[in-house]
This record gives sequence, structure tokens and C-alpha cells, in this order.
Amino acid sequence: MGIFKKFGFGLKKTREGMTGRIEDVLGAYEEITDDLFDDLEEALIMGDVGVKTATDIVEELRKRVNKNEVRNPKHAKMIIADIVADMIDGGEDMGLITIPSVILVIGVNGVGKTTTIGKLAAMYKKEGKKVILGAADTFRAAAIEQLEVWADRAGVDIVKHKEGADPAAVVYDTISAGISRDCDIIICDTAGRLHNKKNLMDELAKIYRVVEKELPYADREILLVLDATTGQNAVSQAKEFMNVAELTGIALTKLDGTARGGVVLAIKNELKLPVKFIGVGEQIDDLQPFNPKVFAKALFEDTSTVEEE
Ligand code: GDP
Ligand code: MG
Repeated sequence: MGIFKKFGFGLKKTREGMTGRIEDVLGAYEEITDDLFDDLEEALIMGDVGVKTATDIVEELRKRVNKNEVRNPKHAKMIIADIVADMIDGGEDMGLITIPSVILVIGVNGVGKTTTIGKLAAMYKKEGKKVILGAADTFRAAAIEQLEVWADRAGVDIVKHKEGADPAAVVYDTISAGISRDCDIIICDTAGRLHNKKNLMDELAKIYRVVEKELPYADREILLVLDATTGQNAVSQAKEFMNVAELTGIALTKLDGTARGGVVLAIKNELKLPVKFIGVGEQIDDLQPFNPKVFAKALFEDTSTVEEE
């Protein structure tokens, strides 16, 4: 299945939900009126784009209508697609050039961190890169075992300690092994739940200091994993993590089977965080580098019958 088809497939529910509601609003009006703008804003909010982003989109549409760029409600759909494409564009590429480079994966329990790491490992390996994983979620034994399963599936090395071990020590050992084994990419899992927020904050800071000290010149990404099915909750989580870590981007999981894909817009527009990957299933190849243009297109058009461009 091509990337375009898979995007389209993963966004089916969001397209039917949010985009369907937008189409209903546009179809109900003969002309563009204030009522249309109000209904549109409501449709967007129901699609989980958040109040601020809904207002921003409608304001931009208003501007374009005033400039006579939009003539009728039917035409407005294309313009909205265009506004959305501009809104989510930029920053989506991973900035990993140095050898090695480091990816720290953070986020609350159950959002899909470990799964995403497995998929990332497989993706980079396919690109010919040597990958090593660090099992720094030492909070539960099951978390370590789960990462081992993914390392196996992806065919990459893993460094692990026992349950309850110091996560920063795991990261230290993973970096050492990564350097001595000439790895290109070091990816570390982290715990999503600790006894309290300060605990989590301290742990992430400690891990970060280890990376800083051992690989001061290495490119690094701090990827926050968010579960799209939680809608606006995902946005709140991102806000919390922004306070404790220098996030470089988002991996948004579980876009398959959710109608809440509009949350991508909120993350980029409200938080200014680029979405770098989207998860569209539980299999190893169900991760896509985020492509804003393809995403916007898939959101507003039924691409399930369109071949990859
Ligand atoms: P973690 O606690 O953050 O490490 O989360 P896990 O990686 O253990 O994932 C939690 C659950 O979400 C598992 O059942 C995964 O199979 C599932 N999952 C992760 N990513 C996706 C995705 O993109 N789509 C779907 N449908 N399920 C996913
Ligand atoms: Mg995990």
C-alpha cells in the first residue's frame, strides 16, 4: 500500500467526522454569511482542532472572502484545505545528521512509546542505518520485555538493565554501546508514569544531562508521543511535557480508527510543535513520516481510490 493510500485510510474516520461536518455546513448555505462562519467554527471544534485553531481558520477564511478569493460555499472547502495545509506545514523533518544521533521518546503510559520506537527502529534499519535501543523505562519489567520484542522484530540491538534500575544509567550504557558498535541512531524509551510529576521531571532531566555530557555534539530529538484518540487531552499532555522537556516534535499515534485527527492542527498551530510521525496501526510498518501536504489532502479528499503520487 502506498503512503498516500495509507494516509487516506488512516484518516478515514476523521474525514467522515470533521470534514463531513464541514461539508454539511458548506452545503447548507447558498452564500457565505456570518452564520456560515459560526457553524464552520463549531464543526471544527467538534473535530478536535481546539477553540483557538478553529477561530484562526475561520478568521483566515474571512480574510480571503473579503479579498474576494472565495466566491461561494462550495469553493470554500478547497480554501479551507489550503489554509490547513499552510497551518501544519514546516518542521516535520528529523534533524538527525551526526553519527550517532539520539532520539529520546517520552510520553505518558499507553500512548504508544514502545511501539513507536519499534517502528522507528525498523524504518531506520530499512534506510541502512544501524540502530540501538535503550530500555530506560525501568518502571515495570513488562516494559523492558516489550521493547525486547520490538528490538527482535526490527532486528536491532538493545541495552537493558533490571526492573527498577536507574534509567539514566541505562541511557549511559546505551550511548556507550552505540558508540563502540558504530551505531547511527540511538533510541531510548522512557517511563511514562512515576510516583509524581517532580519525579518524572527529575528523571527526564537526569537522562538529558547524560546525553548532553556523553554526546555534546550529537543531534538529538526529544519526541513526545501522543495518542490521537484522546483528542484535546493530548494537547494538555503536550503542554505539561513542554514545561519539563525541550521537545523537538510529536509522534501522533492511533490515527487509524479515530475521528479526532483534527488534533494535528491544534498541536502545530497552538503549541507550535511539529508533528514528525503519525502512527496508523499496530504493525511494524504502520508509522509514516508526517507529510503536511499529503495529510491535508487526505483530510479533505477521499484518497482511498487514488494511487500514490
Ligand atoms: P507505551 O506505554 O507508551 O509504551 O505504549 P505501547 O507502545 O505499549 O502501546 C500501547 C498500545 O497502543 C498497544 O496496544 C499498541 O499496540 C497500541 N498502539 C500503539 N501505536 C498504535 C497506532 O498507531 N495505532 C493503533 N491502532 N494502536 C497503536
Ligand atoms: Mg512502553
